Amino acid sequence: MTTTHPYRCAACGRYYPARVDVCAACWRPGLVLLWPARHAAEVDAVAEVTTAAALCRAAWDETRVGAYPDLRIGRDTLLVATGGPGAGKTTWACRALDSVAGPVTMWAAETGPGPALAALLARLVVRRESFHVVGRADLDAVHRQLARSHAVALAVDSVQVAETEPDDLRHLLAVLPDLRLAVAVSQLNKAGVIEGAMRLAHEADVIVELHEMSWTLAKSRYQPIAGVGGPVLAAPAPAAATEECHVATA
Ligand SMILES: [Zn+2]
Repeated sequence: MTTTHPYRCAACGRYYPARVDVCAACWRPGLVLLWPARHAAEVDAVAEVTTAAALCRAAWDETRVGAYPDLRIGRDTLLVATGGPGAGKTTWACRALDSVAGPVTMWAAETGPGPALAALLARLVVRRESFHVVGRADLDAVHRQLARSHAVALAVDSVQVAETEPDDLRHLLAVLPDLRLAVAVSQLNKAGVIEGAMRLAHEADVIVELHEMSWTLAKSRYQPIAGVGGPVLAAPAPAAATEECHVATA
């Protein structure tokens, strides 16, 4: 989104022509920052066209996330996964993506498709051909990749490094008929506040908060949030028990 106003409140997203100490919209101090606008993208000009049938379907057409079966997700969901460094955001996003049926795309803007991501995917036993990884790219390149691969789910890690706005992800969901889930992995800033927190929180259909490799639901349009969550990684398979049984019957 291009703008002539280079400053913006990191909390609520209001633009300012010059720096101000306190945001006049949300009254938070010290969060009006110089905000580099991304270049206009071709996908910005793609019209959002849908049908009444598709809009009605969105309400009940559930997207199953097999790794986290307690999580209810509708169609065309914008999900924000947030937490501090090492909280398990990328791990959560990779497991969630891998457990959605169909082609998926991880936009690994932060790590790139390098050894760290390779090690994580190996540890998670994510190895299917239809799990695409995009490294350095812009919104148009990602849009083309999603369209070409008919991706049903996308994760952007992180939205801050990829310079992707909630609006951009909504737009992708609207212009790509196959895409039904967009996961915005979001950093916390030094104050422990999600960067662009109020906009992201407002735009999100679902917010998953991560802390020390556990997740909880902080917001959902699809289910009550109380008691939903658990470990980011799967509980270890009961291999020992199976072995014992095997030994016992041998
Ligand atoms: Zn503000």
